[in-house]
Amino acid sequence: MSTINRLAVLGATGSIGASVLDVARLHPEQIKPVALAGWHNIERLIALAEEFSPDLLCAAEGESVALEARASSAGLNCDIRNGSAGLLEISADAGIDTVVAGISGAVGLPSAFAAVQAGKRVLIANKEPLVMCGALLMAEARKSGAMLLPIDSEHNAIFQCLPKSLQSEVSGGGIENGGSYDRSGITKVTLTASGGPFLRTSSQDLQAVTVEQALNHPNWKMGQKITVDSATLMNKGLELIEASVFFGIPESDIEVVIHPQSVVHSLVHYADGSVLAQLASPDMRVPLAHALGFPDRIPSGASALNLVGVERLDFEAPDTERFPCLGLAREAARIGMSMPAILNAANEVAVSAFLSRRLPFLGIQALVGDVMEKCECQEVLSLSDAFHADQTGRALASEMLETKWSN
Ligand code: MG
Repeated sequence: MSTINRLAVLGATGSIGASVLDVARLHPEQIKPVALAGWHNIERLIALAEEFSPDLLCAAEGESVALEARASSAGLNCDIRNGSAGLLEISADAGIDTVVAGISGAVGLPSAFAAVQAGKRVLIANKEPLVMCGALLMAEARKSGAMLLPIDSEHNAIFQCLPKSLQSEVSGGGIENGGSYDRSGITKVTLTASGGPFLRTSSQDLQAVTVEQALNHPNWKMGQKITVDSATLMNKGLELIEASVFFGIPESDIEVVIHPQSVVHSLVHYADGSVLAQLASPDMRVPLAHALGFPDRIPSGASALNLVGVERLDFEAPDTERFPCLGLAREAARIGMSMPAILNAANEVAVSAFLSRRLPFLGIQALVGDVMEKCECQEVLSLSDAFHADQTGRALASEMLETKWSN
């Protein structure tokens, strides 16, 4: 990596933030985290600022006064930015080359969007930008010259298995009317899924699973929301929507396969029968290092893959009857427009109700399905259209939660 990468880490105190800063520690001369945005975890943010001496720090609206006081008592010489407006300023800051969009939830969307509009290298580590307004985001990248690089291990794997010409095309925002590009002999893409903690749980037993069981993911350490999404397979559904938009591949050409070892991160099938896959230990530092170094390869700190130690790689078809979220996401991808944003919003409401023990595990898929059935979808031509869809999905989900699921 020849140039210095001046990095903004949005979501610095979360799990993606921890991994990206771990990679940065290995390359102190090349990767400079010059802006760190956390949200509520001020102590962690201050500790990181003491380590990395960034120029800019940002916390949630209600926390910036406390952050300012803590920063000054720690003797830190940082500009303090405030809440969502602060995230937007950081994303567009001329002193920053690369923005890691790692704040999950709808709150992370405007700053990711702003980074794309400002023409940055944007490491997309949250789902919302591509799920809520993917086509719009890609169009903005084409206009601004931004470089979009996917961090989700599956999308990063697919990206790595593409020919160079197609890599530069999709990272530049693809071609208008995505899906119509010359597909370079690609016939199909396979997304792998670990299957989550309930891979072998019967439909009967799924009715009674607890929050603790759902949060016990076999392979990946992640935030609570995404861990529950892995247990319902909605995570894979959202990834399917993202892959369809980002790579311009119709939903019907994206296969999902359960692969419990999480070693093969995804695969690309070509017309001659060749299948290219990316393999690595399940460690987010691998895709992060790929995207930070791209097109060069830099060490990530992840342990080397030991194939003999892995022993076997298993693959099986997902059980779409026990895990209907996958089917709901396919339907949303087919319908397009605001339906993926509505599905995402309803799922957020449902997962948070499950985590606070107001909804049973199987209620998640039921609630999302009910919302999709009842919602009218619209075109998404602006960020406010995306937020409108999000609000509509949330409102309807909350209302249905009250009427149908309150006990
Ligand atoms: Mg993933």
